[in-house]
Amino acid sequence: MANKVTMEKIVSLCKRKGFVFQSSEIYGGLSSAWDYGPLGVELKKNIQNFWWKEMTQLQDNIVGLDASILMHPKVWEASGHVENFSDPLVDCKECKSRFRADQIDLTAACPTCGNKGTFTEPRDFNLMFSTHLGPVKNDNNIVYLRPETAQGIFVNFKNVVNACRLKVPFGIAQVGKAFRNEIVTKNFIFRTCEFEQMEMQFFCKPGDDDQWFDYWMKNRMEYYSKLGIHPEHLRFHQHGSDELAHYAKDAFDIEFLFPMGWQELEGVHSRTDFDLSRHTEYSGKKDLIYQDPITNEKYIPYVIETSAGLTRSVLMVLCDAYDEEELEGGDVRTVMHFHPRIAPITVAVLPLVKKDGIDELASQIEKGLREDFRTDYDLSGAIGRRYRRQDEVGTPFCVTVDYETKEDNAVTVRFRDSMEQKRVPVAELSQFLKDSIKNYSRT
Ligand code: ATP
Repeated sequence: MANKVTMEKIVSLCKRKGFVFQSSEIYGGLSSAWDYGPLGVELKKNIQNFWWKEMTQLQDNIVGLDASILMHPKVWEASGHVENFSDPLVDCKECKSRFRADQIDLTAACPTCGNKGTFTEPRDFNLMFSTHLGPVKNDNNIVYLRPETAQGIFVNFKNVVNACRLKVPFGIAQVGKAFRNEIVTKNFIFRTCEFEQMEMQFFCKPGDDDQWFDYWMKNRMEYYSKLGIHPEHLRFHQHGSDELAHYAKDAFDIEFLFPMGWQELEGVHSRTDFDLSRHTEYSGKKDLIYQDPITNEKYIPYVIETSAGLTRSVLMVLCDAYDEEELEGGDVRTVMHFHPRIAPITVAVLPLVKKDGIDELASQIEKGLREDFRTDYDLSGAIGRRYRRQDEVGTPFCVTVDYETKEDNAVTVRFRDSMEQKRVPVAELSQFLKDSIKNYSRT
């Protein structure tokens, strides 16, 4: 992938095919804000559903939550975000470009204008967006747009334990929007001010945290291979003491090889009892202390967090799936090798011709598949061109309806990756596709 995929190609395909558009484009766009088009919204939703199933339905002891974006402002004092959630900012006095001081060499020349020694002193810039609740704007009604989803989980800890009668160890998972006033946004949807996270907080007994930390690191890496991501495009990066967040005892990033290099995709963090202790202190409530129902032992649970970017995962999936294949005769086909479980369209039904009832028959077959799959129906253009169009948006299966279908009640299934074809009875088509999805492995 590395030598073929570029960010320019991904951005262009995303716009052309309706994955991602620039926000407010007709007004010149809003920097770093993006809208997910008809195919992008399906891809994002499918990744989210895949994560949700892996992290809740398939686990013994993880439940879900959907907390609100606006929370009591004290939450962010307790979490340390009001005090600590800042990046060091420098400006170039010459060209006015702005940078994160930890991402450039301050002794070198400005990356934009090339001047040396023109940076201002670094100053801390808090990344939280704030607004006012209610009609009057004053300091007493400031609220923040949450910069992470995790705090919604911590403040609901006792509600969830009581409602679901949960016993430690257990987890709470959540997917939702988060907002950060990032100093530098670039690389398309990689770093944006509004984004989505998929987070899980796993509560365990103090002392068991190292073992659960190892468990979740392994589990989260396996998740990416289930998602069909090339293992050679993934690696761990352990945080050095200078990188650790204020709450962390240990942290690993899972990094992906994006076109611009290795970058963080997900963080696995050992957060100790920092958050629950701070909320106990700041709220004055003892609610977050857990009592073991068997031993009656009381303690504040330790937390292992897995924190993945959903919108960043969309970019990873797009980059990892992208391929240009040279075909016989020198033709190049652009193909997105999405895992069929997350492909925006799972099956396209294509009538070979638009006459003699073939199109009606194809339309009937396509409607019959809708209950189980996201389908497309395309009857315009030569069949080869229609296959190419589906390849470019990553549709794993094309079903062709031809004159023989009328005789033998069977259709031709064409596989995106191998381009092989197989005749399948219409009555078995749905089950055949379900089995193919289940047994899929990228070649
Ligand atoms: P960085 O240091 O790069 O700013 P971070 O280490 O603060 O990021 P976390 O707070 O650990 O990031 O966030 C967890 C995940 O949320 C990240 O791994 C990433 O996938 C996603 N994420 C964080 N910030 C953004 C953003 N501005 N845009 C898109 N995704 C983001």
